[in-house]
Amino acid sequence: MNPGSWLQNYPHFLEILYLATGRLLSFFDPLVSRLGYDRVDRWLRPAEELSKRVIFDCRMCGQCVLHSTGMTCPMTCPKNLRNGPCGGVRTNGHCEVIPEMKCIWVMAFERSKQMPAFGSEMMDLQPPVNRQLEGSSAWINMLADKDSQLPAGWEEASPRRFIKIEEIEAWKPSLSQTAA
Ligand code: SF4
Repeated sequence: MNPGSWLQNYPHFLEILYLATGRLLSFFDPLVSRLGYDRVDRWLRPAEELSKRVIFDCRMCGQCVLHSTGMTCPMTCPKNLRNGPCGGVRTNGHCEVIPEMKCIWVMAFERSKQMPAFGSEMMDLQPPVNRQLEGSSAWINMLADKDSQLPAGWEEASPRRFIKIEEIEAWKPSLSQTAA
């Protein structure tokens, strides 16, 4: 267990911290842009890695989606799933790959319910992770808009969109027919 992981039991506090960090980064964006994103990435990366590894067990994917996943890092899922759990979650809510570990998506969902600002983003569809950004600073990638750009050769298959609760309700009859 990471030394700061207990902080994840306070997701509302963490989302406030996330908002404050975002505002601070945006404030310094003109300066960072003048100094060069790549150069500041090298300076900032160790601090980002240390702080996020201690609290979230961050794997430095370079495209942080913590605020959309209940302040729970999706890269700590053994399958690196970024859009909810696989079909193998055990009846006790634990992971099928590491039975002694609680499924990170069970924790993410529970935490998101305590997040008034970003909790609803749990229903956002996340694009596939761009492995070319692995190891770089997600903070700088956000400022440089690298985290929302498709890598060369990727086509926009479908735009990112919010799934409405009414849509889920509409799927229920067809899902129960399939089950029957
Ligand atoms: S989503 Fe990526 S950047 Fe954010 S905590 Fe997880 S590994 Fe780190």
